[in-house]
Amino acid sequence: MPIGLFDTETPLIALREQILDRLAEVVERGIYILGPEVKAFEREFADYLGVKHAIGVGNGTDAITIGLRALGVGRDDEVVVPSFTFYASAEAIVNARARPVFCDVDPATRNVTADTVRVALTPRTKAIVAVDLFGCPAPLDEIRDLGVPVLEDAAQAAGASFDGRRAGALGDVATFSFYPSKNLGAFGDGGAITTDDDDVAELARALRFHGSRDKQTFEYVGYNSRLDELQAALLRVLLPELDTWSERRRAAAEAYAEAGIAQYVNAPTVPDRAEPAWHLYVVTHPRADALIAGLADHGVQARAYYRRPLHQQPAMAPYAPTPGSLPATDELARTNLALPMSAALDAGRAGEVVAALAAVLGD
Ligand SMILES: *Cc1c(COP(=O)(O)O)cnc(C)c1O
Repeated sequence: MPIGLFDTETPLIALREQILDRLAEVVERGIYILGPEVKAFEREFADYLGVKHAIGVGNGTDAITIGLRALGVGRDDEVVVPSFTFYASAEAIVNARARPVFCDVDPATRNVTADTVRVALTPRTKAIVAVDLFGCPAPLDEIRDLGVPVLEDAAQAAGASFDGRRAGALGDVATFSFYPSKNLGAFGDGGAITTDDDDVAELARALRFHGSRDKQTFEYVGYNSRLDELQAALLRVLLPELDTWSERRRAAAEAYAEAGIAQYVNAPTVPDRAEPAWHLYVVTHPRADALIAGLADHGVQARAYYRRPLHQQPAMAPYAPTPGSLPATDELARTNLALPMSAALDAGRAGEVVAALAAVLGD
């Protein structure tokens, strides 16, 4: 049986009745925007993360734009962001009217560090976007020590933690995406902003509703970007499962290691204090594209992520750094491939993936 990159369906089978009941309740209530489900989910998600505030928004991209504006980022401010991430991490900066300044990542963890961020800081730096890439928390403590406000882009890291604190509780503000394939995925678009800061939370709340606190007076030019009631009702069913799912993903990563994956590819390095949520299990190999094609012949789906890193994207040309200045990013972009990973990937199937790697690489 082929092994897909994601499996978002199997973990939901046991929850089917409960999900349909909760969605039916929303339809019977007839309140679809900013009602009791969103309010309850915001409380439950904040409690889960151990933060004071969670604000539901329309998607993970808006969460970054609104989160940055709530931190005070505005026209022509510089915001440091890794180039090796999903496009939205930088697009959201431009949508907040600021300028992305691309930095490199650590080649082993693929994440930003205080060192990779530091070289990109200037007197105009207003904030840093630190991405918990592929579900592994970035070292937010050392990055925050740089003294610039940090937005943690935790879109891929629901269920991860660092030093016993949850991803999403590590920055001055953090953002999530509930896009269906994310670790906590909705049946459509959704996102959240989380923070301990009362002022940032209040501003973010106003910005998601057209810049108004009371629906009568409009203080800012904001956004129409809300998590909706149906998605919130679903997410309230899924949230209590997240830790179990994350444990299963960690067990799958462990199974890859035990099956000897490191003999064939460069397996991901997990920093000491990090417990990743393994949104994606990304390895590197000098002939990544040939490997992806070979794995497909063996029924294993693999794919490259961010082959063209952000600093080389046409829309980001105005912000492009000197060519060659982000060597770890360029190398990872060329050599990475993601292997199957999900809460439903058991040790047997992880073993089959490693066997397929062995077969393709002629071992
Ligand atoms: C998915 C993702 C986003 C954007 O989330 P959407 O809900 O799709 O807008 C932002 N940053 C990262 C790192 C992501 O993986």
